[in-house]
Amino acid sequence: MKQEIIKIAKDNLADIVGFASADSFDKNDPIFKIYPATKTVIALAFRVLRGTYRGTEEGTTYYQYTTMAVENMEETIMPMAQLRVANLIESKGYIAVPQRRHQQIMAEENSTNPEVAYDAIYRNKTAENQMNFSDAAVKCGIGEKGLSGAVLTDAFGPMVRYCFILTDLEIEPDEVKKAHLCDNCGKCVKACPGNAISEKGEVDPWQCAIYYNGANGTKNPFMPPEAFVSFDNRLEIIAGEAKVTPETAKKILDDIFFYPPAQHAYQCSICGRACDTACYIHLEEKGVLNKKFNRPFRTREEWKFNIEDFK
Ligand code: SF4
Ligand code: SF4
Repeated sequence: MKQEIIKIAKDNLADIVGFASADSFDKNDPIFKIYPATKTVIALAFRVLRGTYRGTEEGTTYYQYTTMAVENMEETIMPMAQLRVANLIESKGYIAVPQRRHQQIMAEENSTNPEVAYDAIYRNKTAENQMNFSDAAVKCGIGEKGLSGAVLTDAFGPMVRYCFILTDLEIEPDEVKKAHLCDNCGKCVKACPGNAISEKGEVDPWQCAIYYNGANGTKNPFMPPEAFVSFDNRLEIIAGEAKVTPETAKKILDDIFFYPPAQHAYQCSICGRACDTACYIHLEEKGVLNKKFNRPFRTREEWKFNIEDFK
């Protein structure tokens, strides 16, 4: 049955399939509130195409990442694979409970998700019923957690997205991966255009949200010179040096309208997940990723506009 699940998942574009016994989760883990009879957690991980980061890397087109690496993955590709695997499990008389990240629901009261519009999020609604996705991915053997919190995989580094199926079917678990990719180089921290990641790897979600959406004008080809004219600290914002609170972040986000959002409330990523890209480049340069490409990801020096252009 395990091999049948792996085959159908891979036939439907999953790249990595991992299994964890429910015994490896704390008895208070949300998986047992979602489905108390859970015996196995199945993780399906999908590569994010390297080509979808090209537009940001070149400073040209940006919607490919958001539409093809976020929106279509989350709304089409991943649910299809989940449903196919779930149908197989249920055809054998077991229950399959698909778990995909709901981008617009979060447990915290005063946090946000940079990938969607902050005012489209329902907060503190299902605090007990959200799986911890990255922890579950590690338990299922998909990869290890890097400093930035991203799950790093042997093949694609942090360039993956993942979802789960909870089932009462007992399946032999996979081994948790021994951490060997993240070397604490700090490149993810340095690469963020808004200093949203602390040295210890903690991500400030509001800081991330404004710079994910393009508040750093030196890394945003669409920002007009007069951007944020009503803000006293507009040059700090544009240079990526402003420290925001949830309130100031909302005001800044309301003022970012330089590039169209995608559908389903997904916001266009102007930072292009620079933290993940820097990590990927680092791992590729070290030669530790087992999915090889004919060309390195970064082929020339990183571009940047001059802050003087906004004065
Ligand atoms: S960039 Fe370096 S420190 Fe950050 S997650 Fe990757 S390997 Fe770890
Ligand atoms: S690089 Fe982008 S996604 Fe990563 S922490 Fe910074 S703003 Fe957020």
